Amino acid sequence: MQKSKTAIVWFTNNLRVNDNKALYEACEKYERVIGVYCFNPNLHEKTQFGFKKTEKFRAKFTIESVEELRENLKTLNISLFLCYEHPQLFLPKFCLKHNADALFFQKEFTSEETTEINDVKKSIPENIEVFEFYDQFLFDPSDLPFKIPQTPQIFTEFRKKVEKYSKVNNVLSPVKKSEDNLLDEQNETITLKTLGLSNFIISTKTAFPFKGGENSALKRLQEYFFKSENLSFYKKTRNGLLGTEYSSKFSPWLANGCISAKTIYWKVKEYEKDIKKNDSTYWLIFELIWRDYFKYISMKHGNDLFKLEGIRQTNYEWKSTQTLVQKWINGETNEPFVNANMIELKETGWMSNRGRQNVASYFAKELLLDWRIGAAYFESMLLDYDVHSNYGNWQYVAGVGNDPRNRKFNVKLQAERYDSNGKFQRTWLQPMLF
Ligand SMILES: Cc1cc2nc3c(=O)[nH]c(=O)nc-3n(C[C@H](O)[C@H](O)[C@H](O)COP(=O)(O)OP(=O)(O)OC[C@H]3O[C@@H](n4cnc5c(N)ncnc54)[C@H](O)[C@@H]3O)c2cc1C
Repeated sequence: MQKSKTAIVWFTNNLRVNDNKALYEACEKYERVIGVYCFNPNLHEKTQFGFKKTEKFRAKFTIESVEELRENLKTLNISLFLCYEHPQLFLPKFCLKHNADALFFQKEFTSEETTEINDVKKSIPENIEVFEFYDQFLFDPSDLPFKIPQTPQIFTEFRKKVEKYSKVNNVLSPVKKSEDNLLDEQNETITLKTLGLSNFIISTKTAFPFKGGENSALKRLQEYFFKSENLSFYKKTRNGLLGTEYSSKFSPWLANGCISAKTIYWKVKEYEKDIKKNDSTYWLIFELIWRDYFKYISMKHGNDLFKLEGIRQTNYEWKSTQTLVQKWINGETNEPFVNANMIELKETGWMSNRGRQNVASYFAKELLLDWRIGAAYFESMLLDYDVHSNYGNWQYVAGVGNDPRNRKFNVKLQAERYDSNGKFQRTWLQPMLF
């Protein structure tokens, strides 16, 4: 422990106090610890395809998550300061003001995130020590049985290797600081208005009626696992479309780091020991391995994740017809099943995995539209947007990623299979359109 030395923890997509490596290490090594979260103005600007990077759904979810983080940090006697400013502008001033000796944060590897981190490193005073940690995986990069460039291209190969040779580390418990660590200073409150967005009321039909924040994530985990025991049926229900219970709904909290994948993993293990172990409990872990897989594929391929020809380097004839894109967004295509899913996304920021696969396949393989436009729209709208899962899945479905079978979904058959009584479509479509 460095006596009276001060560490700043810069929170990004790790909005939790439990199992947070940067926070844990700062608290263990430094006597004084202060938290910072920057709402980055870049995230509210329009990007090359004309969509705002972050729309109202995820913005609201982030604000709720940060507020809950502030409360949870307070119980550990740590203050969290908020700003609506670029981190490379805010952090140098903040570090100087608080006489900081070190800066702790989560390590990233996609281009925009690493540029931001490098800008911060360049802008802070030279004497400040920087500590960054990979902390978004189930299997830590240092525990992989292969080097990143050798990451298997095929999911099954990746899964078999990590299941056999890697381990999931234990979770880290939060460290409480002494009472005099808490700072008594005026602190900003960020609202949707601050971010240039209006307040809104979410549709009562949403399949994701939950709030952002670590406590909400842990409550959902407790309810989905131990209260309802729905985890025991996950493999059968996971392709569902309606309601809160067909799947875990963990993704928005995983994406902004309100909960760690390791925490979920160890709770599944507890459930298997105390309640039941079956193919459903295994399948939830299987899906978390998909999540890791897309992260490592993204780490391996770098900026190819965002390129039209994808990591497979395949050239197709892509269109970018504005009217077709707009019809897809508004749920006005010739396919009611696609339309219902797109309206759900527009009204709630949520769409099921089954829905996402169908609307993405329709966009890229039926309408032959540039898949990056669809991905950018998802990035804007999704509550659970995660750069690796979004761009990785889009590439996979569009046939430029790593689906060895390069399938096209038959939307009509999918609707018959997964919405045989039409209830999902009726929920989101006007009766005359269906
Ligand atoms: C075109 C397309 C875009 C997508 N974009 C995103 C995205 O931006 N963010 C995101 O988190 N997921 C994305 N997914 C993956 C998947 O649809 C969501 O993770 C899932 O629907 C979230 O619901 P859940 O938490 O109830 O999942 P569950 O079925 O309960 O699964 C548990 C967890 O496993 C992980 N997982 C499940 N399926 C996948 C998958 N196919 N790829 C990666 N991880 C998975 C998620 O972290 C999820 O929370 C996308 C899928 C497609 C087809």
